[in-house]
Amino acid sequence: MSDPLRKAPTVNHGESTAGCLWVVATPIGNLTDISKRALEVLANVSCILAEDTRHSKRLLNHYGIRTRLRACHDHNEAEQVGWLCAQLESGVDIALISDAGTPLISDPGYVLVSQLRKRSFRVQCVPGPSAIVAALSVAGLPTDRFVFDGFLPAKSAARQAALAVYALEGRTVVLLESSHRIEACLVDIVSVLGPQRRVVLARELTKKFETVLDGDAADLVQRLKEDPDQTRGEFVLLIEGVTQPLKDDQEVLRMLQILMAELPLKQAAALVASLADRKKNEVYKLALSLK
Ligand code: SAM
Repeated sequence: MSDPLRKAPTVNHGESTAGCLWVVATPIGNLTDISKRALEVLANVSCILAEDTRHSKRLLNHYGIRTRLRACHDHNEAEQVGWLCAQLESGVDIALISDAGTPLISDPGYVLVSQLRKRSFRVQCVPGPSAIVAALSVAGLPTDRFVFDGFLPAKSAARQAALAVYALEGRTVVLLESSHRIEACLVDIVSVLGPQRRVVLARELTKKFETVLDGDAADLVQRLKEDPDQTRGEFVLLIEGVTQPLKDDQEVLRMLQILMAELPLKQAAALVASLADRKKNEVYKLALSLK
């Protein structure tokens, strides 16, 4: 490989002649969102591990890159470790990409990278797009602290239980959702976190039909009903964290109801008391009134 690619700091390999695994971010929609360095690495490695080789071929063809592709997905990733170590030991460099965005982020690659690190192989990143960070950058929700939880469960009961965890979450919550479930997921947000919880839907980022909708959860349910086109494509769903302590008894009771569905009464009361900045005993009594 050419020298410029070698400038990034190396990790504990000393005089080793072993190759490097390059973890390369690729576009999330717009094919021109790829760095010069990413293209250089992809053109110069001996093989590219890709989630779906046919899908990635389109990106490589667009840039005239002829590097060999090899499939690496959730179902065969563990089997690739031996092959990959042998390749790196022979001195060649390999790249890892996913269908879109940054590998390992809700995508394959964790097994490979963790195993290579344990064996002290060099792993270097070529950073670039990720739907999660792109969505945060335009959502207008606080970004100083956020929590990313990937995809929620597909079935409503399990999804509601997962959402209940965010009842007291102060950080912005970032989730991925598919077009089949986006409406049902918003309906669950309304019932578990309340109709007024602020939500942002970042859809088809960097693509032709990019839209960012924001508003109360109940509002967004309505907007999707009125304009079904807004349920098409790929989504990042962001939920605003709880910004104010619970204001009145009514809000305290609603929060208790949500939490008592998942937690023992005493634990739910203690959590709500700390969030509402109230005495534990007082909230415990309100919780008992719900029994
Ligand atoms: N590793 C990828 C990344 O860093 O962006 C994420 C992979 S995850 C399997 C794919 C999901 O990301 C999609 O189902 C969708 O929820 C979201 N996503 C991907 N591209 C998107 C886009 N252009 N606009 C909005 N969401 C997108």
